[in-house]
Amino acid sequence: MNKKDPVGLYIHVPFCRQKCRYCDFYSFPKGEEYFEIYKNRVIEAIDFYGKKYARSYNSLYFGGGTPLLLGEKHLCDIMEAAKPYLTPDAEVTAEGNPGIAENIDFSALRSSGINRLSFGLQSANDKELSSLGRIHTKKEAEETIKAAKKAGFDNISLDLMLGIPYQTKESILESIDFCDSVGATHISSYMLKIEEGTPLSKSELRFLCADEEEAADFYLLACEELSKRGFEQYEISNFAKDGKRSFHNLRYWLDGEYIGIGPSAHSFMEGRRYYFERSIKDFIEKPFDEIEKEESSGGGWEEYAMLRLRLSDGLDTAELYEKFPDAPKNILENAKPFIKPGLLNITGTKISFTPKGFLLSNALTAEILY
Ligand code: SF4
Repeated sequence: MNKKDPVGLYIHVPFCRQKCRYCDFYSFPKGEEYFEIYKNRVIEAIDFYGKKYARSYNSLYFGGGTPLLLGEKHLCDIMEAAKPYLTPDAEVTAEGNPGIAENIDFSALRSSGINRLSFGLQSANDKELSSLGRIHTKKEAEETIKAAKKAGFDNISLDLMLGIPYQTKESILESIDFCDSVGATHISSYMLKIEEGTPLSKSELRFLCADEEEAADFYLLACEELSKRGFEQYEISNFAKDGKRSFHNLRYWLDGEYIGIGPSAHSFMEGRRYYFERSIKDFIEKPFDEIEKEESSGGGWEEYAMLRLRLSDGLDTAELYEKFPDAPKNILENAKPFIKPGLLNITGTKISFTPKGFLLSNALTAEILY
């Protein structure tokens, strides 16, 4: 990568209105008393890393937590600080909770340069939503998305969760229909993972979640329905309409460079991987370079191959060998037996998983690479 090439910027906003039952992200409820000081610290970090790396950003992603909870004033201030580093065509995404239409000025956000919104819809069924401890209803989500579109946001991503309490095949189809009818351009469809220590892991509701077989059926059903509706699957869990793939997320899978700001944020710059610990106190009080924690640098052939196999575009073994001459030469041969059972396709030197293959992606990747 050329030192002048643009990179990505990620800003973590660790505040939520209330903690969802299944959530293991670094976020805590409310935290209004921190908003101003947190914003100022983020702006300092933008300045610090702007000087340190002297790179422009062609994507900026406000993730969380619930970044929109910060409100338009703070977000616009952060955008002002980031603007000098953004390329004219930068994809700028802010995550938020549906059901906040009355609390945020979407027009101000759009004018600040944010051009993509990602809402944690998870489901369009109120009973399922309440089982997850989400704060919104289907109707509120509809109003929020409508308000965002009215303000000029035409690139809207919605998260859809599979395997949640009370979910059925019918309710999945209804949720997908909702996403399509409100005009989503992108859908991230993840399987619920019950993380240890979360309220859901201790609640009776966990027994109402899909078992492995049912979850697999749900995933394949979602892939099929989304494809029918023109959402192209470009990654295990991500689907885009009209070519609106998430540029920022693709960067992670294509091993591109990015700078992460905020507690729990990760960075990969100039061959070095590092992260900030899950401590808002450290982030606010300590010098940035003192709280950067080293991670293994990665970057070998295995990581390259594994990340590409997550993508529908797949792994081009010719490109792999050009980049990593020491990678094993039997990868294509290893993959061939999995064509017949419909788990993958081979086109020339390229291997790409089918939705059925994505379901078994860990085991399948191991079979092929080793
Ligand atoms: S809104 Fe997202 S980050 Fe916040 S508690 Fe819920 S799942 Fe976690």
